[in-house]
Amino acid sequence: MSKYWSEAIQNLTPYVPGEQPKGSNIIKLNTNENPFPPSPKVAEAIHQFDTDRLRLYPDPDASALKQTLADHFEVAPDQVFVGNGSDEVLAHTFMAFFRQPKPLLLPDISYSFYDVYCNLYAIEAVHIPLQDDFLLALEDYTQANGGIIFANPNAPTGRALTLDQIEVLLQRNTETVVVVDEAYVDFGAETAIKLVNQYPNLLVIQTFSKSRSLAGMRVGFAIGNAELIEGLERVKNSFNSYPLDMLAQVTAIAAIEDNQYFLECTQQIIQTRDWTTVQLESLGFKVIPSKTNFLFTSHRYIAGAELMGFLRTHSILVRHFSRPGIDNHLRITIGTESEMQALIDCIKRHPDIIS
Ligand code: PMP
Repeated sequence: MSKYWSEAIQNLTPYVPGEQPKGSNIIKLNTNENPFPPSPKVAEAIHQFDTDRLRLYPDPDASALKQTLADHFEVAPDQVFVGNGSDEVLAHTFMAFFRQPKPLLLPDISYSFYDVYCNLYAIEAVHIPLQDDFLLALEDYTQANGGIIFANPNAPTGRALTLDQIEVLLQRNTETVVVVDEAYVDFGAETAIKLVNQYPNLLVIQTFSKSRSLAGMRVGFAIGNAELIEGLERVKNSFNSYPLDMLAQVTAIAAIEDNQYFLECTQQIIQTRDWTTVQLESLGFKVIPSKTNFLFTSHRYIAGAELMGFLRTHSILVRHFSRPGIDNHLRITIGTESEMQALIDCIKRHPDIIS
């Protein structure tokens, strides 16, 4: 607290302090990073990069990257916006579209940053509870609103809607912007990018941090109608014209161009996820069906916080959320096969597990 701070920031807490430990020999399954390195083409692009160029500012429009994304997703370049991680793209989105007299609608369990942006930008939010099976309660998104946002697949639950279900929501809500945050879509869900030319109010946001193994480069993007993209450019250009550095632009292009590597890595993660699900279930865990690179799971006898602490003492980090309703769950990122084997072996050593 400080008398100098504005009211909007008095109650902000830093995001997951301690979730990025400095030590080695840790099995890090707590922030949904990819266990595999980026494509070899990314390393090649970095080696070939002419460092003399670093004295110049980067391309403020990131036009080569936008063109690459446009070609990949079969849209026009003016339908693509890029930013410094999808968190920044989301921040611009909230600023550009959701500061409305009517409230933003979002699911009750969802990505925690949405509430942070609502606080920062003084946006009123109505939280709509998930169904008992953790899916979005589509029937409940009916009230007049200043926009709708949800993650698909959802975080931290891992559950995904089909495109048909998303279309139901879009057909009912035509007057305000509907944002689908697809940070985890490549691990088994279907992208709504296919729908952007049909629904001018649909904005789809994706990231290079998960399926493309580039969390360290901080690249995210949005795809939608050119009018929505222009709105985002307005916000960006009013306070940071150079969101992406040169290396971020070059490596993101290389990552998109190596589609084969991307498919192999995501397939491997899906396979390991399904193996881990079976293992956890055999140890008495309830595992929510996941379309992501993480599992949301709980155990009948062991409290989530207790199990997280136990794993931590064995140098395995997983994520626990203390909020009521989901405080018995853990969110476990899918790592390599050997990391997941180590996780299962460790859980088997917990005194309350009967295997
Ligand atoms: N959306 C969701 C649902 C996420 O879980 C995350 C990662 N924590 C992000 C967006 C932000 O990802 P990034 O800024 O690394 O692109």
